[in-house]
Amino acid sequence: MSIQTDTIAAVATPAGPGAIGILRLSGPRAADIAAAVFRPLGKKGLLDRPVRTLVYGDLLDREGQVIDRVLCTYSRGPESYTGEDTAELHCHGSPMVLTLGLEALFVQGARQAGPGEFTQRAFLNGRLDLAQAEAVADLLDAQSREGARHAAGQLSGALSRRVGEIYSALVDLMAHFHAVLDYPDEDIDPFTQEQLARDLTRQETALERLLATYRRGRQLSRGVRCAIVGRPNAGKSSLLNALVGYERAIVTDIPGTTRDTVEENVELGGVPLRLIDTAGLRESADPIEQLGVERSRAAMEEAELILLVVDAAAEVTAEDAELTRAVTEAGKPWIFVAAKQDLVERSTSVGLIGAEVRAAARTVELSSKTGEGLDSLARAVAELFPRDAGSGYGELLTNARQAQAAQRALEGVRRAREALELGVTPDALLTDVEEALSALGELTGQSVREDVTARIFQRFCVGK
Ligand code: GDP
Repeated sequence: MSIQTDTIAAVATPAGPGAIGILRLSGPRAADIAAAVFRPLGKKGLLDRPVRTLVYGDLLDREGQVIDRVLCTYSRGPESYTGEDTAELHCHGSPMVLTLGLEALFVQGARQAGPGEFTQRAFLNGRLDLAQAEAVADLLDAQSREGARHAAGQLSGALSRRVGEIYSALVDLMAHFHAVLDYPDEDIDPFTQEQLARDLTRQETALERLLATYRRGRQLSRGVRCAIVGRPNAGKSSLLNALVGYERAIVTDIPGTTRDTVEENVELGGVPLRLIDTAGLRESADPIEQLGVERSRAAMEEAELILLVVDAAAEVTAEDAELTRAVTEAGKPWIFVAAKQDLVERSTSVGLIGAEVRAAARTVELSSKTGEGLDSLARAVAELFPRDAGSGYGELLTNARQAQAAQRALEGVRRAREALELGVTPDALLTDVEEALSALGELTGQSVREDVTARIFQRFCVGK
C-alpha cells in the first residue's frame, strides 16, 4: 500500500453544460478541503454529519461568495473508491460553476488530478486490481450492450477470479515441487509425477481457454470492422442508415472521423460493428478508384466481416459477379445481402450467384426501406461471431496487455509440462512455473512494473 500525501481534485463530468457537474477530491485532506468550500444549510458542519450521506448547501468560490446550491458527500478511507478520504460536490452542470469551484479547491490546497489518477490511487491502495481498473476504462468506452456487460463483469472481478483460480492452482503445484525437491536423492515417484503432469495439463488447458477469449474480447472492445460493398446504387448507404436507425439508442459516432469516411458504430446481433460504407469513398478523382471493385477491395482488406449488397430488384451485372468473386477471394466471413426486397416479388439475384458461392455464404434478403429482414441479418452476424459459451460476463481478455501476459503464462506452464514429461529435474520446472505466476501477476497487477501501470492510467480521462 502506498501512501499519497497530496489531495487531488478534478471535474469528474464531461465538458460543457449539463444537468449535473461533479467536483471530486481524494487524499488526506479531501474532507477538510470540501468542508472549507461548502456551507451546509443546517447548523451542523459537513464533518459533523455522517460519512456517505448527501448534504445540501452552498458552494463558495475562492472569495467566499456563493456560486451554486449543491449536494456534498464525503467518505473516509479506506472505505472509498480510492481507499483514501474522498469528497464530491454535485453542482449544477455549469462550466463556470465548476471552474470557480475547482479554483476554490486549489486555493484550499488541492492540486489538479492527472488522467486516471483517482483510479490509479484505487489500484495503488488495493481497492481494485489492474484488470478491474482497466475495466473502468472499458466501461467508459463500451460500444455495445455486450461490451458494457463484460466490462461491468470484469470490474466486479470476474476476470480476476478466473485468473486467480489458475494462479492458486499453480501455487499449489509449486508447493508439490518443493516437497519433491526436499528429497533430492529420491526420484519422483511415478504417482506424484503423473499427478503433477495432470495438474500442469489442466492449467495449460485453462490458460488456452482464457487466451481464446481474447478474440471475442477484442471484437467487443474495438468493434468488428465490417465493410459494406456492392456496386453503385446497390443500396449500401441505405443499409448503413437502416442499421444505424435499427439500434439508434446505442449508436455513437467515432470521434475523430468525419461523415465522408462513412464509418458508424452499431450493435447487430449482440456484436459491435464498425460499419464502413465504401460508397463514402466515391468522390475520388482517380478513375480506377471510382470503380466499385477497386474501392471495395481496399475496404475488404481491412475488414473482419463483409456485407456484399446486391440489388435484388435489378438484373445482376458483371460488376456484381466480379465483386462476388473478390469477396470470396478475400477469405473473410461474409454475408450475401439481397437488398431492396420491397421492390421484388421474389428475389432473383440470389439465384444468379453460383451454387458453391451460395453454399459458402450466408444469404439474407432484406429491405432497408421497410426494415424487413434486418433481424435475419442480425442473426447471421450473431452466428458468425458467436458468444464464447464457456465464459461468463467479464471473463474475457480485452486488451493486448492482458493477452500477452496470459500468453506468457501459458508458455511457462507448457514448458514446465513438457520438461516434466522429458524427465527434467524439478528445479528447472520451478523456474517455468514461477515465470507463469509472474505473468499472471502482471495480468492482475500484483507483479507489474510501475511504468507499465502509469501508461495504463494515462489512457483514462481526467477525473476518473
Ligand atoms: P449505394 O450507392 O449502394 O450506397 O446505394 P443507395 O443506398 O444510395 O441506394 C440507391 C438507391 O436505391 C436509392 O435511390 C435508394 O433510395 C434506393 N434503395 C436502397 N435500398 C432500398 C430499399 O430497400 N428499398 C427501396 N425501395 N429502395 C432502396
